[in-house]
Amino acid sequence: MMDVRAFDCGISAIRTFTYSRHQSIPETEIGQRRILSKWNRLRNSLHERTARSPEEIAGFQFDRLSLLVDMAYITHPFYHKLYKSVGFNPGDLVTWENYHALPSISKEDIVEAWDEFGASRCMSRADCYSARTSGSSGKALNILQDGGTNDFGTLFYLRHYEQMLGRKRVANEWLYEIYLAPPRFTSFDGAFPVFTISNQCPPDLAAAHIARLKPKILSAFPSYLTRMVSSIADLSGLGIEAICTNSESSIDAERDRIAEAFGAPVFDEYSSEELYLIATQCREGRYHLIEDNVRVDVLTPDRAGRGEIVATSLTNTFMPFIRYRQGDVIQIASESEPCACGSRFRHLASFHGRADQFLVSRTRGTIQPDRVMTLYTHTLFPKDGQIAEFQVVQDELGSVDLLLVPERPDGVYNEGRVEAFVTGLKEIFADEKLDVRVRVVAAMPASLSHKRRLVTNRIGRS
Ligand SMILES: [Zn+2]
Repeated sequence: MMDVRAFDCGISAIRTFTYSRHQSIPETEIGQRRILSKWNRLRNSLHERTARSPEEIAGFQFDRLSLLVDMAYITHPFYHKLYKSVGFNPGDLVTWENYHALPSISKEDIVEAWDEFGASRCMSRADCYSARTSGSSGKALNILQDGGTNDFGTLFYLRHYEQMLGRKRVANEWLYEIYLAPPRFTSFDGAFPVFTISNQCPPDLAAAHIARLKPKILSAFPSYLTRMVSSIADLSGLGIEAICTNSESSIDAERDRIAEAFGAPVFDEYSSEELYLIATQCREGRYHLIEDNVRVDVLTPDRAGRGEIVATSLTNTFMPFIRYRQGDVIQIASESEPCACGSRFRHLASFHGRADQFLVSRTRGTIQPDRVMTLYTHTLFPKDGQIAEFQVVQDELGSVDLLLVPERPDGVYNEGRVEAFVTGLKEIFADEKLDVRVRVVAAMPASLSHKRRLVTNRIGRS
């Protein structure tokens, strides 16, 4: 099997930041060829699917859902008990109302009933891919995926990369990943290779290696790309054609700055270990739901249509996630006109992140995150603020901490910008007495820096 680390392009130091191959399921050539042959068989239809009418897509989803729900009732102890308790029988899923009436589940429900949910299966857990995820509650959950489920997830990513490029990807074009873990496949029998380094790698070393390897697609945390932009003069010469950002929240202005520096469009993605790709940005900037991977609805929407996401993975057979409440607050756009990108998959009108990214005011209650986002986009983010990183943390009602990492080594930053943020935040909170504590730090505390969040609410958490 091709060892991608051999492609260090004469920069041996990069090997320090590559990952070893150990995985819950080791990568094999047979596995690689299996995915490649699935991709070759399905590539065209996967692309064509995105242009199907909403009715056709809903029909496709419903067929999958009814089979999945029946199967879960029959073979899965957790769902069997849950659906039996509401009088469900196999075959009862006839209309969308039936589906919406099925009970929803949360991460806490799964953690509490772990033996039934994740372990009590005929196939051994050891034969599954596993990934850990932790939620706002701090409880960790092990996500298990069988090989077929993993293959589907891989195919959706391969499609996404071609959507980003706006063309077919040539088999020898590299994807360059800067991530927390190695990929499950480093190539598919030599085709569509992936070079992955840790985000601990210094940006200049990564740039030097990228300049030689010449990947077409770059995938990284927005915070890492921002570090590259601020420390490397010419990124546009690297020849990157498309960039995707994931795992962390970022703002439009930040992604625009990255796109300008690299001379390549940036596509953000919304995904989770539980559901995999949920929505990806298209060339028009819209977050289209990945309708053939996941059925997404809003649980008890408010008048504007905003509410908690409730979603079903259409592909995870070992560990089904059916009507799963992931905790994020979303709003699905109502128009059904095809997007200029060609996709007819529904898109998100807004995405508000997790409940623990909402700040709370003593006078107004929960603050809509887009108001705070607009404020920091115009105050803390502009270049003349000289702020390398910032985070807004709320531990108790009536006060907010603003953590700042100044750009300059001498710690000087634009205090006027910070004052404007503080004033604006008090206005949004309608609370003149709001105590905004500005804390200048050399680096973000480890508890906040693993995966960046710009806003964190820790009220009520120890
Ligand atoms: Zn679009």
